[in-house]
Amino acid sequence: MEENLNLFTSTQEVIKEALTKLGYENDLFELLKEPLRMLTVRIPVRMDDGTIRVFTGYRAQHNDAVGPTKGGVRFHPEVDEEEVKALSMWMSLKCGIVDLPYGGGKGGIICDPRTMSMSEIERLSRGYVRAISQIVGPTKDIPAPDVYTNSQIMAWMMDEYSRLREYDSPGFITGKPIALGGSQGREKATAQGVTICIEEAAKKKGIDIKGARVVIQGFGNAGSFLAKFMNDAGAKVVGISDAYGGLHDPNGLDIDYLLDRRDSFGTVTTLFENTISNHELLEINCDILVPAAVSNQITADNANNIKASIVVEAANGPTTLEATKILTDRGILLVPDVLASAGGVTVSYFEWVQNNQGYYWTEEEVNEKLRKKIVDSFNNVYQTAENRRINMRLAAYMVGARKMAEASRYRGWV
Ligand code: GLU
Repeated sequence: MEENLNLFTSTQEVIKEALTKLGYENDLFELLKEPLRMLTVRIPVRMDDGTIRVFTGYRAQHNDAVGPTKGGVRFHPEVDEEEVKALSMWMSLKCGIVDLPYGGGKGGIICDPRTMSMSEIERLSRGYVRAISQIVGPTKDIPAPDVYTNSQIMAWMMDEYSRLREYDSPGFITGKPIALGGSQGREKATAQGVTICIEEAAKKKGIDIKGARVVIQGFGNAGSFLAKFMNDAGAKVVGISDAYGGLHDPNGLDIDYLLDRRDSFGTVTTLFENTISNHELLEINCDILVPAAVSNQITADNANNIKASIVVEAANGPTTLEATKILTDRGILLVPDVLASAGGVTVSYFEWVQNNQGYYWTEEEVNEKLRKKIVDSFNNVYQTAENRRINMRLAAYMVGARKMAEASRYRGWV
């Protein structure tokens, strides 16, 4: 039988299993199996050459029983409706795992920002906000950065929303530049969260980070900061990659040099002749493997060839369910995406709190609060997995779905 590579249906499968294990009836699964709302918008944009192009965008709101929905907006040519839905469900789980007063949301626009000018991207970003403005807002649904979106795009979106509402609304969106109410530590937050998960997982496995061999797939926001943190902690980053290929050096790569040469979309390997493929990269001899790029990278085909003893998912959905079983059976500690990548939304929450209270914290304060959230969440998920003798993904889904399920019950929705 072919394995299931569909992110939406495989997420549904695990949610169903988690709810059953939590003792809920099928009615709750019926409620949570897809987003409560999904808006599709068409956004006309005047391009620099004077022509009009119409882009398709989405905003999914999975469940708002706990609080407003929250989640990033991605700009990517492969964005599709089902993926946005699955991503909104993962956001619900992430918020549940780190215990934020939010449900999950997600947005996306089918476009390739790598081929667009800054002013075209600005017009597209503003057009998207106008198109979804009725269903978003600081107490409704709060967007943030995701793949190929950044603080400048958040700034344009915040400005457009504030103009529409005719009052300043910094809490409408997170991941903003510091000058516009962004939080200290937000840019590095996803990588910080991954780093904390790696530290906790390494303790469980008796691995010393100092000298540990690390492979990171993807050199975007999460992957690049993570490479820096691992390098600074004395680990040996022996492999990295971007969308075009990978670099491998068993003696450790010169991370500072690579960071210096990387472009704003995270591309760096094109500068080198001696590259390996993204698939070869995953099978390198190492202790810690971090898929921080795209989905469906570790599958039933290559799960048996993974050499790492810890796999930490910084990307969304990099490991299939079948591969999850194979890795777990092989004794590899897999830290699932909904836990490992929750650092970003955690500091987004801190940003929103600071915007609402109008009083701002130092980077140390933010990092300390982030560490506590991630350490507690890691141990909660790890303990659930141990106690129930289940894999970390299912355990994370159980932890992540619990409050949302309870809140939906209390509200009388099911
Ligand atoms: N896009 C990030 C994620 O997938 C961050 C979301 C947020 O900060 O709201 O977790």
